[in-house]
Amino acid sequence: MDNRDKKPGAEKKLGAEKEAGTREKILVIDDSAVQTEHLYSILKDDYEVVRCQTAQEGLRAAKDGNFSLILLDVIMPDMDGFMLLQELKATELTRHVPVILLTSLADIQYEERGLLLGAVDYVAKPFSPVIIRARVNTHVQLYHYQMEFREQAMVDGLTGVANRRRYEDVSRNKWEDAMRFGLPLSICMFDIDKFKLYNDTFGHPAGDQVIISVAKSVSAHFQRATDLFARYGGEEFVAMFMGSAGKPAFEFMKTVRQAVEDLHIPHNSPVCKWVTISAGGVTFVPKAGDSYDTFLKLADTMLYDAKRLGRNRVVWMGENGAQWREKD
Ligand SMILES: [Mg+2]
Repeated sequence: MDNRDKKPGAEKKLGAEKEAGTREKILVIDDSAVQTEHLYSILKDDYEVVRCQTAQEGLRAAKDGNFSLILLDVIMPDMDGFMLLQELKATELTRHVPVILLTSLADIQYEERGLLLGAVDYVAKPFSPVIIRARVNTHVQLYHYQMEFREQAMVDGLTGVANRRRYEDVSRNKWEDAMRFGLPLSICMFDIDKFKLYNDTFGHPAGDQVIISVAKSVSAHFQRATDLFARYGGEEFVAMFMGSAGKPAFEFMKTVRQAVEDLHIPHNSPVCKWVTISAGGVTFVPKAGDSYDTFLKLADTMLYDAKRLGRNRVVWMGENGAQWREKD
């Protein structure tokens, strides 16, 4: 049976989606307490403002917090604003957060250097509260458009589940995580049985609805933070999940397959009464030297077997190479 621990609260959202009602967070890094207080008083009504007075403290805060913007002083002892900016841009967690540099240096070369290093804007001290507010608002807005765009680029337009690009992006990380922690990893390929026939019979708009229904039904089973479920293309999907041994993974996928059959979407063809899926997968603990592509191909071979053996079934390969076939 499915012994996977469901954690409904653990669903991972793509991108930096904001909950309605929460305030945007802005980080102010300046060695002068007078300056940080000044900026705080200008922005506190519209934003949650976090203040830091050293570059090190600022870097830590930037990595921990989910900031929409960073206001960064250029001249600071120890690590200056340029060095910190370089550090922020080199760090995956902070590289997309816009940085506005603050300085009293009117020299054009400093401005050029800051922009070349990836700052989005530059404000010379002493600054006017109106200008600060306007620039902050603009860049926070742009940051949101950018995040939304990034998120859209990772989502399948038809079904709303992760797309192939997202899958390509995270599958190798999951592989490496499983290797590092010595955990079993499962890869499952599946597709909708006789989908071309369904399209030919009912038309493409109806076919699209079937893809949506199947994606919705299957994705409901992959809601843990470490799960990945993506549309691979056409009527093909891929799932990856961690921690289950081969046999429980096989049993789990049988319930997923059954759930699609239980939707009772009429197919009405001589070969299938309802819309069904076939699934092929493999569970293994990846080791150094193993190739991800080899396991993906194995999953594909299992799917091929599921099709060959009559469809609407799961065929799985376990850790020791044993094969389990549903309905055999
Ligand atoms: Mg300073």
